[in-house]
Amino acid sequence: MARDYYGILGVAKDATPEQIKRAYRKLARELHPDVNQEEGAHERFQEVTNAYEVLSDPKKRQVVDLGGDPLDSSGGGAGAGGGDPFAGFGGLGDIMDAFFGGGGGAAGGGRGTRSRVQQGSDALLRLELTLEECASGVNRDITVDTAVMCETCDGGGSRAGSAPSTCDTCGGRGEVQSVQRSFLGQVMTSRPCPVCRGFGEVITDPCQQCGGDGRVRARRTITVKIPAGVGDGMRVRLAGEGEVGPGGGPPGDLFVEVEEKQHERFVRDGADLHCTVEVPMTAAALGTTVILDTLDGREELTVEPGTQPGTEHVLSGQGLPKLRSNGRVSGHGDLHVHFDVVVPTKLDEQQSELIRQLAAARGEEQLEPTVSANGDGHRSGLFSRIRSFGHR
Ligand SMILES: [Zn+2]
Ligand SMILES: [Zn+2]
Repeated sequence: MARDYYGILGVAKDATPEQIKRAYRKLARELHPDVNQEEGAHERFQEVTNAYEVLSDPKKRQVVDLGGDPLDSSGGGAGAGGGDPFAGFGGLGDIMDAFFGGGGGAAGGGRGTRSRVQQGSDALLRLELTLEECASGVNRDITVDTAVMCETCDGGGSRAGSAPSTCDTCGGRGEVQSVQRSFLGQVMTSRPCPVCRGFGEVITDPCQQCGGDGRVRARRTITVKIPAGVGDGMRVRLAGEGEVGPGGGPPGDLFVEVEEKQHERFVRDGADLHCTVEVPMTAAALGTTVILDTLDGREELTVEPGTQPGTEHVLSGQGLPKLRSNGRVSGHGDLHVHFDVVVPTKLDEQQSELIRQLAAARGEEQLEPTVSANGDGHRSGLFSRIRSFGHR
């Protein structure tokens, strides 16, 4: 009836917690679904993981040793949480996390000991992208320099064939107690053992490769998939690609932060784009067409006769993809084209004469003040807003 958890991990009935941990790590690496696509590997992985979960917990292990099965009432392990589009590299790290992380106790046994195996820290990397790359998304190979698990000792920190020994100073408890006399009587204080730093065990024969830390630094290249629609300051998370923790602990995450280069024509406001097209006064009066290079291609815009300064032309859907917090794209922003009517400044005599004639023909030689209700204030407001996008 009861499953043979020791047999599943291939360890003896009197195996130490360290030996059990090692056996599990070795099997988990061989059988992990990310690595091993053989038939039955996934089931074996689940089985091995369950066995480790049981044998690393002193209480559950006791149940096994008494001939019971602590997993009889509960179901199997939980599935790995998919669905997070930013966590493209999820995997081993998450699973290791479930067993090695989360505040010791399980592995050490003793009350005051803390686990040598600790969660690794996150790493951050910046990646410069053009607006076009932000719009389309991009796959980039990046070089990362992080701590990885030491292959020589499998993260254990001991030289092959040796194992950590119980700390003599604290007797494996991880803490030492001292008694002080005061006028109140005897006061007992405890503090982490200075020899084993609270681990309860010491590595007597450290691995030569990592010096006992269980990890080494390595440079590797990984491909980051940057989704379409990202923007300056956004972070893409690569689960488990950060630093491996001490003692070969589960790695942290790697965050890739987007640094968006300023575009020469477009100013971005979320998924919307803005650009300004200068239209000479004459063209604004007579009307014309203008060719604009957008992110999607060339677009011919009509400048209507009598176009006013600040006229806005909206190219619907020609902005950037709208990236939602769930990582999916829904729709696109717009491209706002602002026509800036340019009044000529350096007129020669002939040009001045032509404009004087025009003014005379239109009866505009003598200016009569008129006050527009929503004229100037609105216009300068709009333009200062657009300009300010460029100076975040
Ligand atoms: Zn100690
Ligand atoms: Zn090592």
